[in-house]
Amino acid sequence: MKSMFSSTIAAISTPRGKGGIAVIRVSGDEAIGICEKFIFPSKPLSSVEARKASFCKICDASGETLDEGIVTVFRAPHSYTGEDTVEISCHGGEIICREILSRAFECGAVQASAGEFTRRAFSSGKLSLTEAEAVIGMIDAKSTSELKLSRKNLDGKLSKQIGAVYDKIKGVVGSVYAGIDFPDEDLMTLDESGMKVGIVESIKMLEALERSYKAGHAVCEGIPTVICGKPNTGKSTLLNLITGYERAIVTDIAGTTRDVITETVVLGDVTLLLSDTAGIHATSDKIEQIGVEKSIEKINECELLLCVFDISRELDSEDEEIISFAKKAEENGTCVICVMNKSDIKSDVETKLGSIFGNTVEISAKDKDSLEPVKNIINDMFIEGNILQSDGAIVTNARQHASVMRALELCKSAEAALDAFGTDIAGSELERAMSELSELDGREVGIDIVNDIFGRFCVGK
Ligand code: GDP
Repeated sequence: MKSMFSSTIAAISTPRGKGGIAVIRVSGDEAIGICEKFIFPSKPLSSVEARKASFCKICDASGETLDEGIVTVFRAPHSYTGEDTVEISCHGGEIICREILSRAFECGAVQASAGEFTRRAFSSGKLSLTEAEAVIGMIDAKSTSELKLSRKNLDGKLSKQIGAVYDKIKGVVGSVYAGIDFPDEDLMTLDESGMKVGIVESIKMLEALERSYKAGHAVCEGIPTVICGKPNTGKSTLLNLITGYERAIVTDIAGTTRDVITETVVLGDVTLLLSDTAGIHATSDKIEQIGVEKSIEKINECELLLCVFDISRELDSEDEEIISFAKKAEENGTCVICVMNKSDIKSDVETKLGSIFGNTVEISAKDKDSLEPVKNIINDMFIEGNILQSDGAIVTNARQHASVMRALELCKSAEAALDAFGTDIAGSELERAMSELSELDGREVGIDIVNDIFGRFCVGK
């Protein structure tokens, strides 16, 4: 089976640096012919049985041994890329690897660009676009939950669900056009009420995918999170509790955290992109003022706001300012958790915080046991029930989510058009929804999107 690409590519597929072994991958129509010139198993490489490891000598141009290793031949289409592929396992030294790779180039291969092996797998139909994204997710996984979700999507969970919605819409569109083009013949498999059912079912499937993004985003992309509060309420102490080490300098002088510190932290199933801020309070100190401005910027961009209050003291006007700031953010769709801190030295003063905020947690940020309730409240907010354990497909990135949203809008507009104007306009909206779904999983995807996705891979993948 001939590849659609004319070049044969090669790259070191293991990380750079010293290691026990390294793997060099060569893929393309000429992969076996090229490698046969410098890889010598006990019989010629072209007659080696596919997918069986063979001991081999790896030689330079004069026939001197560069290294001894293991070679495996994969014949198209039964390889990762769908092309003829040779994988050479050699000793994992940087110079050895470079020399062997150079030999592959001398013999006719060209350097693979970032993600080119996976891009070829996509082009030869071995992987859909969401499956290719799942490969990135598996390699870049920050947590076991992200790894699990990515594995699920690499197994085709999301692809299959997108395909199922696509087929459902296609069934409706087919009936619409059969009715328009051949009104006298009985080609319509669905009448108007059947079409309506098909559209409503498609909407439900898309809505479920749309909802799944909340968890997918929290697990795979991370939640931009800000810790805010007036000085000395314990924001840095909370940051240290969550990150697990002394990242921010904690002192009892108000206003010590002047810049925005950002950390990526895995907390239970979710990942937080966490910023501790300088607080939002009036100050005449110029440097501190810059910090305050940065804080406000971060708060406006964040998706989760952890508002810290010191419950050992009465709330004052600065706290009131934070409260009204947080309520405004909540109105704009930000998730807000009120952290009632310093419970260990809590005074008798009744706090009204419980009646102001829907989500509250009372802790002592100095105490390690406080991590558990903080983790639970955040995870419950973003991960609905057992969605991660369930069998359902999960949307894991903004690109997929935007496509699902557009397809959903188009299906809703098709439903409205069907009620108001009959089948014609509904048909064209549904066709646009199909094309959106095609783009989502790569059937009709534009080159820019493909470049963007595969550009995120490392060389050798
Ligand atoms: P920030 O200015 O809001 O970042 O506050 P810090 O984290 O620097 O804390 C200010 C002071 O409060 C420090 O002396 C902390 O040790 C203390 N602190 C923070 N959390 C707690 C707590 O839960 N209990 C008690 N007793 N003190 C705390």
